[in-house]
Order: sequence, then C-alpha cells, then structure tokens
Amino acid sequence: MSNEDEVRKSLLAKRAELVKRVGGTQAIERQEVAEGQNDNAQLWEVSDIRDDLDAQGATELDQVNKALARLDAGDYGLCTECEEPIAVARLKALPYATLCIQCAEEAEESS
Ligand SMILES: [Zn+2]
Repeated sequence: MSNEDEVRKSLLAKRAELVKRVGGTQAIERQEVAEGQNDNAQLWEVSDIRDDLDAQGATELDQVNKALARLDAGDYGLCTECEEPIAVARLKALPYATLCIQCAEEAEESS
C-alpha cells in the first residue's frame, strides 16, 4: 500500500467519523423535540453541545475535504505557503495539515 493510499484511507475514516458525530447530535436534538421537552435550560444545553460540535466538526470536515481534493490534484503534502514538502511526521499527526511546521509557527506568532 502506497503512502498516498494510507493517507486517503485515514482521511476518509476521519470524514466518516465527523459525519457520524454531526449526524448523531442532530439526531439527539430531533429526539428532544419529538419528546416535547419544553424545559428551556435543557434545550439550550443540547443546542450548545450541537453548536460546539458543528463548528469544530464543520471546520475539520472542511480541512479533510480539502486534503482529499489536494490528494486528487497531486499536490498533497506541499505547504500552501512556501510550497515546500511538509514533514511526513507532521502529516501523520495531522493528515490535513496545509502548512509546513515553519510556516505554521510563523502563522501562530503573527496571530
Ligand atoms: Zn511552509
């Protein structure tokens, strides 16, 4: 199995996991509504959890999709900033990394 196949597999697994997570929380909310729970505090709590997951999940999903698109385009693993290859160890830890470690550190310092 080539390295790219492995990367694709882990990205697809990550995407499935995210979809399941987002779908799961929406299912929880639907259930709450179906059961006719009108307790405001409880409804707020549920939508807070969902919002958290959605925001984080949507961002991750976006990153995973972009990484898959780059894989298809053949420019996966290249830093979008300096176009140098991203270290393999970094990609293993963060399969959808778009910046090499140097550019990532610079981006962090300037923010
Ligand atoms: Zn870079």
